[in-house]
Amino acid sequence: MLKEVFKNIFLNEVTLPKNPLKALNCYIIKDTDRTLVIDSGFDHPETEELFFKGLEEIGAEIGKTDMFVTHLHADHSGLAAKFKAKYKGKVYCSETDTNYINSMHDVLYSQHFVPILNLMGINQGVDFFATHPGLVYCIKEKIETTLVKEGDQISIGNYNFEVVDVTGHTPGHLALYDKNSKIFFGGDHILNKITPNISFWHFKYGDILGTYLKNLDKIYNLDINIVFSAHRNIIENHKLRIDELKKHYTDRNLEVLNLLKQVEKASSVEIAAKMKWDYRANNFEEFPNNQKWFATGEALANLEHLRALGLADYEFIDGVAFYRAL
Ligand SMILES: [Zn+2]
Repeated sequence: MLKEVFKNIFLNEVTLPKNPLKALNCYIIKDTDRTLVIDSGFDHPETEELFFKGLEEIGAEIGKTDMFVTHLHADHSGLAAKFKAKYKGKVYCSETDTNYINSMHDVLYSQHFVPILNLMGINQGVDFFATHPGLVYCIKEKIETTLVKEGDQISIGNYNFEVVDVTGHTPGHLALYDKNSKIFFGGDHILNKITPNISFWHFKYGDILGTYLKNLDKIYNLDINIVFSAHRNIIENHKLRIDELKKHYTDRNLEVLNLLKQVEKASSVEIAAKMKWDYRANNFEEFPNNQKWFATGEALANLEHLRALGLADYEFIDGVAFYRAL
């Protein structure tokens, strides 16, 4: 069921089965002639049915409907190939996230993340990722995207969207901003109730938590009335939410620094095991692999942020990065 949330902008809440995120807010912008859909949901039969039902309900036409993928995660990009096959439209995405999306169909995709697993101090192989929802429900083939970057324009009807780079949650996360109507489609950059997972992707992206925080400041300074976020509620006071998020990440970083100060040196999985988590388990060892991966990725992003701030350093011992406070 579609709900008009702004003039000619409709929300299609698509279920993400058995996922703590519960649903993806898929937004459809309808002009008399063209349609733009933002994000898709998992490649899962239940999600797929709801996603395409929304497009049918709005009267989206083949050849006149495009899609904007905010970032690579499967709950956003999962149905992009099926969308393109059916509607023959453009799929806008950043180059960095397109490259990830286009290697997901490969059985070797998990292999890319094994060296990261090892440098975290988790001595396991590809099987570790066997039940990762991002891989089970991801896009199953390569897709040709229309590459967009910061400053590019996408217009539909009376809306003139500017593409905004909000790297952090993923290395190529993009958002859409319309200055005139003061609306912002932020993907997972700013969420209500949930704090976006900021994880380590690769050393080549530098201090990604630092980049994320800078990109929160960038959005703080924009004139925005409504943030249409990809999960949970729409955000009406973006400055307040950004202040809350910044406090959360600052507190978290301090927690990691304090844990690091208590030991001579520690790997990111050792730090993750000592951090406080909302996840219900008796101890870190009982966390399922996916949860361990999220947690340790977050710990590593925090450690890299401390290193960028000059508060920590690392050394590699047998491929494992060990951090110490300075
Ligand atoms: Zn995401």
